[in-house]
Amino acid sequence: MRQANDIVVEVLHRMRGWVVPGVTTAELDHRAEQVILSRGATPSFKGYPPGSARPFPATITTSVNEELVHGIPGPRVLKEGDIISIDVGAILDGYHGDGAVTLPVGEVDQESRDLIAVTEGALDAGIGAARADNRSGDISAAIQTYVEERGYEVVREYTGHGIGRKMHEEPQVPNHGRPGQGVALRPGMTIALEPMVLISSPRVRVLEDHWTVVSRNGKRTAHCERSIAVTEDEADILTRW
Ligand code: MG
Repeated sequence: MRQANDIVVEVLHRMRGWVVPGVTTAELDHRAEQVILSRGATPSFKGYPPGSARPFPATITTSVNEELVHGIPGPRVLKEGDIISIDVGAILDGYHGDGAVTLPVGEVDQESRDLIAVTEGALDAGIGAARADNRSGDISAAIQTYVEERGYEVVREYTGHGIGRKMHEEPQVPNHGRPGQGVALRPGMTIALEPMVLISSPRVRVLEDHWTVVSRNGKRTAHCERSIAVTEDEADILTRW
């Protein structure tokens, strides 16, 4: 799992250089796929979920501005001032890695910078609560509290998740919850935590492409994700960058 996540980290790290005004999201997808394949891994999202009528058609998800998660790469050209969430999944030797960042495209406004900072802070707060003597609800509550105390909203419909031989395993780790509830965390459990943060309202809808999740109010959103392993002590961050 560590190696699968190393590949995810490599892609996300390179994205910081690739995300510039003028690039298309399809180009980012192509470059990500080249890295994943060159490391002997397979993209997790492409064709997911297997057997469905509308499997995800690309290697990464690219969600721009009001798009929260699951945006489909395509001909869209990134503009100075946009923000983009990029989610990367890779399978290596049967194990999954999963991670995401929201990046600025060139110079972005203060509202966007604050939004991204709160989302990253929420992820750190969630990781801080991911300890062997805690429950999954402690992670959820830590994320929700961090976000709401700063005047932002967390999504309700999409969650973090256990990860390992499958991309989505038990337990679900919502971005909202109560301390002391949910699944007991045990050393060795591997979980992908992914705060999704909105402005003014937590409401979202799915576009007609059946994938892209956007804020209902059209305001910008942010999302970031790391896979971690629960230990007796502080969580071991598998997607560290
Ligand atoms: Mg995930």
